[in-house]
Amino acid sequence: MAKFIFTTGGVSSSLGKGLACAALGALLQARGLTVRLRKLDPYLNVDPGTMNPYQHGEVFVTSDGAEADLDLGHYERFTNQDATKFDSVTSGRIYSSVIAKERRGDYLGATVQVIPHITDEIKAFICNGSDDVDIIICEVGGTVGDIEALPFFEAMRQLRNELGNENSLLIHVTLLPFLAAAGELKTKPTQHSVQALQTLGLRPDILLCRSEHEIPDDAKQKLALFCNVAYENVIRAQDAGNIYEIPTVYHKEGLDAAVAKAFKINAAPDLKPWNDLIVKLKNPKSKVRIGIVGKYVQLKDAYKSLDQAITHAGIAEQAEIEKIWIDAEDKKLLSKIQGVDGLIIPGGFGERGIDGKIKAINYARKNNVPLLGICLGMQLSVVEAARTELGMVDASSTEFGTTNTPIVARMTEWMSGEQKELRGISDDMGGTMRLGSFACTITEGTLAHNLYNKTQIDERHRHRYEVNFKYRDVLESKGYVFSGMSPDGLLPEIVEYHPHPFFIACQFHPELKSRPFSPHPLFTGLVRACLPK
Ligand code: GLN
Repeated sequence: MAKFIFTTGGVSSSLGKGLACAALGALLQARGLTVRLRKLDPYLNVDPGTMNPYQHGEVFVTSDGAEADLDLGHYERFTNQDATKFDSVTSGRIYSSVIAKERRGDYLGATVQVIPHITDEIKAFICNGSDDVDIIICEVGGTVGDIEALPFFEAMRQLRNELGNENSLLIHVTLLPFLAAAGELKTKPTQHSVQALQTLGLRPDILLCRSEHEIPDDAKQKLALFCNVAYENVIRAQDAGNIYEIPTVYHKEGLDAAVAKAFKINAAPDLKPWNDLIVKLKNPKSKVRIGIVGKYVQLKDAYKSLDQAITHAGIAEQAEIEKIWIDAEDKKLLSKIQGVDGLIIPGGFGERGIDGKIKAINYARKNNVPLLGICLGMQLSVVEAARTELGMVDASSTEFGTTNTPIVARMTEWMSGEQKELRGISDDMGGTMRLGSFACTITEGTLAHNLYNKTQIDERHRHRYEVNFKYRDVLESKGYVFSGMSPDGLLPEIVEYHPHPFFIACQFHPELKSRPFSPHPLFTGLVRACLPK
């Protein structure tokens, strides 16, 4: 049976709880333990799939096809292991499942209630697969005091009683704000949020105190005294220069030591890989400017994995990367992309911003600027080709309205392994996408083959529309190469433009599989193509 670490947040949202859990997971792995990280989101959406990226940031997709909270991306990147659909849940999903059971008559006529039915469902989710790993880290989204989160806190309270103190820990991530007028960090908001936890029957074992300022010793002592936490378990968590420094920074402050002591873990951590990574990150040998033409660029969280994948490639190629986030609707788009060494056209949904993206693709193609198109970026690369190279002026995607030349169209059936998946054109928005990992066969001798150095790959998908392969021959006559196809040969997965030094676009999301210790070949390839010659 695994030991459990629960993580809650206090005082403010956006404290980096997800990163803290991910970093703790990495630190425990460095001590030779196996870990599993889970996210419990109190909101009522069944999954984040239909949520606006501006509100909730990127939707992360697991290899088994779950649309999940972006924190799962942090978990995967820091622990270098795949998350699954059993690692992310929302109140919406918990309630749907309980209500479905009630309709089926599973509760045998009992009155269905938050306690025990909802809390039991949450507990079952948390404990699922707990015999397979040493430690399960479970993060509750939101902040203590949120109404929706109450059943999650109650489930945690019950579990902590059942598991016993030696098998579970509660880490409360909190904020120490700095009041300029008083010239000091304030501990009172943390004291209040710990009180709020205590009224729910939960007492934190470790306080992870986020702060933009140095945390003085007297603040630590005060927190220990007023919050009923051991002094050495009040951990300073000041901002780190780069997120990949967090494991070593938190280690120095004693986070994993506090966990090791509570769980009687004796192994010392081996942090050499993390230290080496930081040395590489801090010593770039060249500089590269990469432009990203997207429509959610005002909120970096909307492109979290993409941002990280570029960073990983920069570390691997020892290049400092300046990322230039360009709004696809910016009137000065062309002048903004003129100075970049390479371009990325990321994924996206809907018609807004596509003209700008098509312009950027055309610019990159005509001016030999290295380009990586992702998902919508690949679909628009093909639309741009049909419009400018084949003279099909109304070539478009059926996503943007009816067209006589549907070069990109909605698919209603495809193969998932041995199984055929079917969707109706008017199905709900939730659950109508090609989601998760699918195989792709790469043609030898292509740029894709050169980058991946293999012919069989698996990549993660999240889209409803596909490039229509009946246009393949005419496009190939213009220098395009469909270098990656689904194994049945029907769905284009990678398209390249061979008259160009580096023009490659893929239907899947390579950024979801990039990790600091195994950067993705399409991103390292792009960065290499951008390096000064
Ligand atoms: N909107 C496009 C589709 O659904 C592309 C999606 C994406 O870029 N993830 O097919």
